[in-house]
Amino acid sequence: MAFTRATGKHRRASRTARTTRNLAGIATLAASGVVASVASPALAATDESAPHDTGLQQAVVMGDELAGRIEAQADAQQAAAEATAARAKAEAEAVRLADAAKKRADEAKKKADEERAAKVRAAREAERKLLNTFVAPVTGSYVSTGYKASSGLWSSGSHTGIDFHAASGTSVHAVGAGTVVEAGWGGAYGNNIVLRMNDGTYTQYGHLSSIGVTVGQSVSRGEQIALSGNTGNTTGPHLHFEARTGPDYGSDIDPIAYLRAHGVSV
Ligand SMILES: [Zn+2]
Repeated sequence: MAFTRATGKHRRASRTARTTRNLAGIATLAASGVVASVASPALAATDESAPHDTGLQQAVVMGDELAGRIEAQADAQQAAAEATAARAKAEAEAVRLADAAKKRADEAKKKADEERAAKVRAAREAERKLLNTFVAPVTGSYVSTGYKASSGLWSSGSHTGIDFHAASGTSVHAVGAGTVVEAGWGGAYGNNIVLRMNDGTYTQYGHLSSIGVTVGQSVSRGEQIALSGNTGNTTGPHLHFEARTGPDYGSDIDPIAYLRAHGVSV
């Protein structure tokens, strides 16, 4: 039998080598985990079956395994493609959400800016209105002699201001914010004060018993600047008040209209 065996060995030498190669190949596949379950039947068939059939069977097995691998690869590739698409979609969604958030933030900031600007405007308007809102020069008094009233008492023949009823020593207030341009004796006006108001107009206060400010001094709205009296050309104590477009005598305007235009009830 040894001779037969030798002959057989000689005849089947090439197949042995081929089987070895197949074993190696299947082992490689088995190592990859793809064909572990089918490796043993394939090997069992190689020893006693017809050599050519066995080779074909192995080729079929290999073909099936290859198809399986290709299918697995295709599945993996599709899964990867789907994962990529999902990732891209998620990224696009993230970008969209970020854009929306930024847009909301921008709109909120814009709204806040607008509200802040509106508050500033309102505050400035209120300040401007307050600056243009005067007070009466004598609190709780009334006009005893009107503007342009005729009398031999005045050199012009008519009254260049209005007289407020006021006992001597009554507080006299700056009707608005301004600067003292005159403070002292004013002839027929007696002791008098002239203020240049911040809006560029002038106001005059006459027949004072006491002057409390000096030229160049800034005064605020409602600030006490003097006490009323009976100095100068008068027939009794009162406050003579004039509104003027300039600092000098003769530039007088209607003081009632002037005070009313500045929110004072007279
Ligand atoms: Zn007067």
